[in-house]
Amino acid sequence: MHTRREDAALTLRRWLSHAIGRLKAAGVDNPQLDAHLLARRVLGLDRLQCVLQGERRMEEGELREAEGLLERRMGREPMAYILGRREFYGRDFAVDARVLVPRPETELLVEAALEEMADRPKATFVDVGAGCGAIGITLALERPGWHGTLLDIDPGALDVAKGNAFRLQAPCALVQGDMTAPPLAAASLDLVACNPPYIPESAAPSLMPDVAEYEPERALFSPEGGLRHLEGAVRLAARALRPGGLLLTEHGYDQADEVTAMMERTGRFSGMRTRRDLAGHPRCTQAWRTAAP
Ligand code: GLN
Repeated sequence: MHTRREDAALTLRRWLSHAIGRLKAAGVDNPQLDAHLLARRVLGLDRLQCVLQGERRMEEGELREAEGLLERRMGREPMAYILGRREFYGRDFAVDARVLVPRPETELLVEAALEEMADRPKATFVDVGAGCGAIGITLALERPGWHGTLLDIDPGALDVAKGNAFRLQAPCALVQGDMTAPPLAAASLDLVACNPPYIPESAAPSLMPDVAEYEPERALFSPEGGLRHLEGAVRLAARALRPGGLLLTEHGYDQADEVTAMMERTGRFSGMRTRRDLAGHPRCTQAWRTAAP
């Protein structure tokens, strides 16, 4: 076994082909990409070097480390946790198992906020359920005149967000709290942005193991068919937004109608609009706080 492994992995090129084969067999989605990323992490190479240095010999220690990372990926641990980072809106966010891995579709919410609020050089906002802080930190950095609060119920998540805000130098307040009793003054905000947990518990068996077995349940699932936290976000926004303020929330591909109905039921929102993600799924719904009570 030992000799076989050494033999299969003498050079970077051979290790890559061995790793790709094992990842494929484990049912991993992008075996080629992941194998390269793992090798690059161990050897400290950029993308081009990893291609050009195929004949490079892998040292015993490098091999051992690469095999360790490969085993983790074969166990379907997300690449973002193995590498400890994920890119979001062009910036590197530190992530670990205490937070959801930021998704590309969530960039849609950020874009919508920047576009809808383009005429407001100054604004106050909250990112509800901030997780690693991807949404809130991005908004704070894209709009230096905006003042943001990152709210999360989970101390571990808040710790990750704090680290990201510090490293990326985003001036945000980080607050631990429950969205049902948020430490936010009434009618004090211009924007509420939220990517709450919205997966119904009944959908758990259909999730990829990468998600179901590794990402925090608390960040994924919501009771009441996936709607409880969405309802919480709508209530929070109805109270905390100033008239003329904007609520933007991400949701499941089949939840846009329910979310729009929740907004209507408060009697405090108008101008509801849903955007689709790149896969064509309704993914993000917005509403404007009216002047009514
Ligand atoms: N706001 C974070 C994100 O969009 C975390 C969301 C969550 O944990 N549900 O990635």
